[in-house]
Amino acid sequence: MELNLETITPEERQELERNVLTTSLDQIKAWARSSSLWPLTFGLACCAIEMMGSGGAHYDLDRFGVIFRTSPRQSDVMIVAGTVTKKMAPLLRRLYEQMPEPKWVIAMGSCATAGGPYIKSYAVVKGVDQIVPVDIYIPGCPPNPAALIYGINKLQEKIRYEAKTGKRVTNS
Ligand code: SF4
Repeated sequence: MELNLETITPEERQELERNVLTTSLDQIKAWARSSSLWPLTFGLACCAIEMMGSGGAHYDLDRFGVIFRTSPRQSDVMIVAGTVTKKMAPLLRRLYEQMPEPKWVIAMGSCATAGGPYIKSYAVVKGVDQIVPVDIYIPGCPPNPAALIYGINKLQEKIRYEAKTGKRVTNS
């Protein structure tokens, strides 16, 4: 039987909306990706302690599908947790380039977002966004695990939004 959407009753339309799921392949992929983010395991300073705490039993990042990986080849998120020194910057960039697309970056803490307490130091990069594109900024010195989890949730929302609208949301 052929269904004419223009002639159906409001009740039939309601019934259809309740029973038929319409989506696109991109949205399904985004849902799967955002529900299984794998961050690269590396910390640069004190913020990394809070990041490690997020993965522990109390905060349990695993429940969001977030599993830390030790190889950039297996990771799709870089959480920059700590002070980025100018000496470390090229290595951080190389690790980022070794991650496959699509990939995202979270700047965790005031050091990673803007240099933090070392803003006047000649040796510190004033924000990791000078080296790699950043998707989510988390303020704090240090941000606690709840703040990191909030940032990860925002990244999940952003990934799903981009797939739905076809627009890339940038912070520049
Ligand atoms: S933001 Fe604060 S806690 Fe985090 S790495 Fe910098 S000094 Fe340490």
